[in-house]
Amino acid sequence: MESDKIYKFLDELGEKMKLAGYKPETDYVLQDVDQEEKAKSLCNHSEKLATAFGILNLNGQSSIRVFKNLRICGDCHNAIKYMSKIVGVTIIVRDSLRFHHFRNGYCSCQDLCDLVIIATLLDLTCKALSGPTAKGIS
Ligand SMILES: [Zn+2]
Ligand SMILES: [Zn+2]
Repeated sequence: MESDKIYKFLDELGEKMKLAGYKPETDYVLQDVDQEEKAKSLCNHSEKLATAFGILNLNGQSSIRVFKNLRICGDCHNAIKYMSKIVGVTIIVRDSLRFHHFRNGYCSCQDLCDLVIIATLLDLTCKALSGPTAKGIS
C-alpha cells in the first residue's frame, strides 16, 4: 500500500536524520504521552508525510513542492532541513505565512519565521487595541 511505503520511508529517513544530528522537538506535541509516543506522533504531521511522498515520487526532478494551509511547525521545519540535506533535493514548502526553500540543510527563511509571527501578532494586537478607540475618535 502507498501509505505503508511512505511510513516505511519516513522511518528509514528518520534514522538517517538522527545520525545527522536531528532531534525530534517533542515540545510541539501537546498530548500528554511519553517521549517515544511523542516522537511518533510528530512523524505523522502532514508536511512530513507530503515531503516523504514527494521524495518517493521524484521521477528525476530536483525539487518538491508542499503546500500547507497552516503554519509549518518548528519540528517539521527542522526535520525538512535535514531531509533536504540527506536526500539532496530542494524542498519548497508554502505555509500560511510564506515560502520556505529548503536546500542542503538550510531554509531560505533562516528561521526568521518566528520574528514574522511575532510581528504579525503585535500588529494584530495593535489593531485590536486601536480598533474601538479609533472608532470613538471618528
Ligand atoms: Zn509538524
Ligand atoms: Zn523556513
